[in-house]
Amino acid sequence: MNILKSEHIRLTHRLKAELSAPRRILITTHQGPDGDGMGSSLALYHFLKKQGHDASVITPNDYPEFLQWLPANADVVNYMRQKPLAEALIEKAEYVFHLDYNHLKRSADMSRSLYHCKAVRILIDHHLSPGLPSKYVFSNSEVSSTCELLFGVLKQWNAKLIDRTVATCLYTGIMTDTGSFSYRSVAPQTFSVAAELMNYGIDRSEIYDRVYDNYSENRMRLMGYCLNEKMEVFPQYATALISLNLGEQQRFGFVVGDSEGFVNLPLSIKGICFSAFFLEKEDKIKMSFRSKGNFSVNDFAKKHYGGGGHLNAAGGDAKIPMNDLIQQFRELLPFYENALIPESVPDFDPDRSNDPVRSPNEQPDRLRNC
Ligand code: 5GP
Ligand code: MN
Repeated sequence: MNILKSEHIRLTHRLKAELSAPRRILITTHQGPDGDGMGSSLALYHFLKKQGHDASVITPNDYPEFLQWLPANADVVNYMRQKPLAEALIEKAEYVFHLDYNHLKRSADMSRSLYHCKAVRILIDHHLSPGLPSKYVFSNSEVSSTCELLFGVLKQWNAKLIDRTVATCLYTGIMTDTGSFSYRSVAPQTFSVAAELMNYGIDRSEIYDRVYDNYSENRMRLMGYCLNEKMEVFPQYATALISLNLGEQQRFGFVVGDSEGFVNLPLSIKGICFSAFFLEKEDKIKMSFRSKGNFSVNDFAKKHYGGGGHLNAAGGDAKIPMNDLIQQFRELLPFYENALIPESVPDFDPDRSNDPVRSPNEQPDRLRNC
């Protein structure tokens, strides 16, 4: 099976030819790296090292502990914590890969140096609207994850160099970016790729365990607090919001990654198809949005917060006080009522009076967008 579009097959041939001799190669991903960002970065790192390249991985900042077991995690350079080393690597790079992001601003404080970096750029990403001019652009918003797309590239490049280590990193990215193969972004091809990765002998249940069954007691208690005391549900808009300020984070000994996945929780409530999570940071509020069905959180995040992402998963930043942001969000919801709860169920049809679903006395209900 060919995972790549024909244009990407041609592009891979050119890239392969251009990287046929050892080069200084930098691999980067977005700020607040997730499983897909780290999985793709480290998979590519192992692959390039096997080819004899001088490869390095730089993250803009910290990433969750549940990803710190990935093979060669110790080699990752953290721009925020190791700035001089990271700057030197950016300065001397001949090639730079941008993985799992499509705008330089997504690399936070590292973006200025990356902007000035003279290296040849290669973008491999699955977000909508790529806006990072690169010589090689592998962008496909139809794939589940950057790792799925990268597997196609690596297979085309040199399938013999894919091994259990590379497969473990790629599988981690696909698993985390698809909510363990549950999101709408999952296609038959996603399962085919997962099946191919299994053939390299990866330990699926160990990967799952390391990522999802590795949380601290603090995180579990924080989750309980969020659900019990912080979740605001707006049934009339099929929406829910959770916010967490710095004081609350301190109370629960918050560390990076502790709120990972919280934004998804309200979507388990029947009838909720739009969920927002606001996390206060020192200098801004990080917003995460998730939806089910056709409500585009990408459009929502882009329009109101200059953010973006995908149809059903997006994010953005704001630099206003938390209470103002929450109030603003509440005030936006009525404008989206039709998008969130789009159609009315047709009026009762007397010709179908045996319809077991609704009797003539029942109020017409409205269908939610999920
Ligand atoms: P998360 O909520 O997990 O941080 O992000 C969900 C999705 O939206 C990810 O694919 C992420 O790359 C994207 N995303 C998150 N924050 C931003 C942002 O501030 N700007 C843009 N353009 N995309 C974002
Ligand atoms: Mn991704």
